[in-house]
Amino acid sequence: MNYLPVFLDIKNKPCLVIGGGQIASRKISLLVRAQAEITVIAPEITPEIHDQAHDGAVTWRQKRFSADDLKDYQLVMAATDNRKVNAEIAAQCKQRNIWVNAADDVHSCNFILPSIIDRSPVQIAVSTGGASPVLARTLRAKLENCTPAAYGRLAKLIEDNRLRVKEKFSSTEQKRKFWEKIIQGPVAELVFSGQMDAAQKLLQEAIEHEDHRDLPQGEVYLVGAGPGDPDLLTFRALRLMQQADVVVYDRLVSREIMDLIRKDAELIYAGKERAQHALPQESINQLLVRLAKEGKRVLRLKGGDPFVFGRGGEEISTLIDEAIPFQVVPGITAAAGCAAYAGIPLTHRQHSQAVIFATGHLSDGTVNLNWEMLAHENQTLVFYMGLQGLEVICTNLKKHGLAPATPAALIMQGTTAQQKVIMGNLDNLPALVDEHDVKPPTLVIVGDVVQLHDTLRWFNPEEDVTASAVRFFGART
Ligand code: SAH
Repeated sequence: MNYLPVFLDIKNKPCLVIGGGQIASRKISLLVRAQAEITVIAPEITPEIHDQAHDGAVTWRQKRFSADDLKDYQLVMAATDNRKVNAEIAAQCKQRNIWVNAADDVHSCNFILPSIIDRSPVQIAVSTGGASPVLARTLRAKLENCTPAAYGRLAKLIEDNRLRVKEKFSSTEQKRKFWEKIIQGPVAELVFSGQMDAAQKLLQEAIEHEDHRDLPQGEVYLVGAGPGDPDLLTFRALRLMQQADVVVYDRLVSREIMDLIRKDAELIYAGKERAQHALPQESINQLLVRLAKEGKRVLRLKGGDPFVFGRGGEEISTLIDEAIPFQVVPGITAAAGCAAYAGIPLTHRQHSQAVIFATGHLSDGTVNLNWEMLAHENQTLVFYMGLQGLEVICTNLKKHGLAPATPAALIMQGTTAQQKVIMGNLDNLPALVDEHDVKPPTLVIVGDVVQLHDTLRWFNPEEDVTASAVRFFGART
């Protein structure tokens, strides 16, 4: 080990920064966060440092550095833009046994600064001992991704309750086990999802009722898995997928996403094929309740977003009735995902000032959509589950005033390597379904923005059929 990692308490301690440019500015920001008492010595400073001096966060001495300046400091940052000057300052500091960091010059320093992940009071510092700052930053980014932003709040909650836990348990082993359970269980999840009062209450209950047995405490995560591309998962979705004990999933969740679930998690298929539900909704609600009551961490994984045609509301209302802790994690809904990957902006200053998400799922053959509201120019319509009723949709939009040549697209398996975009208009769209063997999941987008696909398309795993459709039916007049 070439360096000893330490965390210095420099709160209200005099620290000196020499230099007033961008490099110095970065060091100053760091020292400000650590609440040091900062003096800056430089003939000139950036506007940002000016502001900090104005606010009283730093004291600026407008002068050139001289060795005498060092006498009141134990920690110095040599941060001028001149490497030689920094090295000289560092040499003088070392002679006086002052801790000094010289910017970008590890050999002149007697301490170096790590890359930091700050979830105060939790901090993670990464260093390669100066070998490769880029490598350190890359590693930092990876850790950043898997460290929930609310870790600081969790640490604070633990700190606030530490004494009470200490009083409750006599052995260190019991305390350790207790905190492990808290950190990996619903209390932590409540903190991560921003429910601090509920977290405190649950922790309090856990402290009061903990009688050395491991009481099971289940919870449910209602998670949106996005439209298919695993890269579109949220950090939180991925983290919960990796800690769930059991996963209740839909048909729409892609194989690649399923592969990211913790390997030993139990998988339960909840189906949801149109008109052929593998499990009726009521049974799914009850299943979630039962699994959570068994003490399991239950992940309810849904395609897209759970609150967009996902029946998420119904599922959590049962959980509320049964007082089961839960959280809802949004996902990228099919409209957003498919539109982005098809190069069809859902709104556009010239073409569309509003966007409507509608369901095209027709129960018992009737359509109860508000056609008056839908059939307007300058807006975009997105139909989920619109394949079966496509004929009815197109006919009604035309009947209520939209031009037959209004551009419309079918996006099949959007965002995946199998994505197919089929371009047409309100007249020909139903025929294109058979012609191109279009199958669910497919999204229907109607409106002038659709034509932008021709110029804005960028993701194209399979040749799409824009050309033939336009050639056959002609451009819109
Ligand atoms: N909760 C989901 C929607 C569920 S309804 C969401 O927010 O996306 C199911 C419908 O969503 C499908 O019939 C289809 O119209 C659409 N859909 C979902 N994923 C899709 C995808 N990858 N490509 C195209 N359409 C998709």
